[in-house]
Amino acid sequence: MIDVLVIGGGLAGWRAAEAAVKRGASVALVANGPGNSPDIHAINVPVREDDSVERFIDDTLRSGRGGCDRALVETLCRESVKLADEFPFDRNLDGSYKLLQPLGCSVPRCVSVDHRIGAYALAKIKRDLSGKIEMVKGRVTALSFNSKPSTFSFRLGDHDSPCEARTVVIATGGWCGKYDFSDNPPELRGDGIDMAVKLGAATRDMDQVQYEPTVALAPKRVRCIPVITTMLFDGATFRNAKGEEFLSDKHANKDEISRAIFAEIEAGRGSDGGVWFDATQVPRGILDTTYIDTVKRYEAAGVDIHRESMLVAPAPHTSLGGLVIDTHCRVLRTDGTPIPGLFAAGEVTGGIHGFNRIGGNAGTETLVFGRIAGEEAASFAEGGK
Ligand SMILES: Cc1cc2nc3c(=O)[nH]c(=O)nc-3n(C[C@H](O)[C@H](O)[C@H](O)COP(=O)(O)OP(=O)(O)OC[C@H]3O[C@@H](n4cnc5c(N)ncnc54)[C@H](O)[C@@H]3O)c2cc1C
Repeated sequence: MIDVLVIGGGLAGWRAAEAAVKRGASVALVANGPGNSPDIHAINVPVREDDSVERFIDDTLRSGRGGCDRALVETLCRESVKLADEFPFDRNLDGSYKLLQPLGCSVPRCVSVDHRIGAYALAKIKRDLSGKIEMVKGRVTALSFNSKPSTFSFRLGDHDSPCEARTVVIATGGWCGKYDFSDNPPELRGDGIDMAVKLGAATRDMDQVQYEPTVALAPKRVRCIPVITTMLFDGATFRNAKGEEFLSDKHANKDEISRAIFAEIEAGRGSDGGVWFDATQVPRGILDTTYIDTVKRYEAAGVDIHRESMLVAPAPHTSLGGLVIDTHCRVLRTDGTPIPGLFAAGEVTGGIHGFNRIGGNAGTETLVFGRIAGEEAASFAEGGK
């Protein structure tokens, strides 16, 4: 019998495992792929002098267009501050933080480690947990609750797993892998939502999906890979098939940009189903440092983005809806009561981003709520012994 079963091997899952182990719990983690987390470029933490938790809360609620759970947003923003003590975020020569301004943030707030905070954090946690947890590869296809004693068991593929757990953290990410043109891997199909609903969990905002406005359509080698939108603040622009610039508002949100692109395409001014994202005006020094991954990726596909534009279109990117949780990451039923022993964190949950997510908030969410879910699950398991 293990204390905490984590389903999902993205940042929310690994973070939960890390926190549960720190609390002395025995942990098993099951995953059928890496999920989206290795691609997290940067996350939001209010570290700038003129920034604050309150400003972060305001930006998140405003961008969420009335769809956010205020308590979850407050937890996200307050707890995010602790990440600055935990991670060696990139700094400039003068010691100030290297910051990017994501769409929807009123100030630059996105921090990173070597432009790859997701991969960095995953590698660090995996190193720290090496030999301390049980790792199981495979797809969980069902989760069941057994009373007397209260435990969870699960099916792995077509087989019942012999492993039983006192608590479960669902961290299976979103469902955007179901769409043909998406930047998500196909294993992200919303399985965790399905499993929890069968145990009585409530869901919210299941019609809400965030489109990433700038996902590469071509060449084939880069297709479905997003181009980071913070480039807009460094001089990138959108152009239609006629080469005309459209959408000059640098403070537009992701949803507004996606709508403007779709409108351009529908009006017959698109190119092969997309529009051109032109980074040729971004200073070379910035392109070759901050956006070096994009430069190299396109270079390998035969496109020099210093001189040529990128063909992009909006694609499903983040599930905004999902399981209903409270600030302790307890999965709630439709009557608002928690399902004992069942926790969730990360993109599988709903309510934090409302109807429009600020770029950088998903990574912060995985680190903040993954930790809370792991700690709460470990405490619950301890109480049941
Ligand atoms: C290309 C890209 C770039 C992004 N960049 C950023 C960024 O810079 N900043 C930011 O804040 N956000 C970014 N995001 C969003 C962010 O990556 C995700 O919201 C976040 O990684 C979700 O983390 P997670 O741990 O909840 O889920 P994921 O990282 O998606 O992990 C889900 C895990 O669950 C596993 N799983 C799913 N179903 C099952 C099952 N049935 N059985 C077993 N395992 C299962 C998967 O294999 C995977 O291991 C980006 C997204 C994409 C697609």
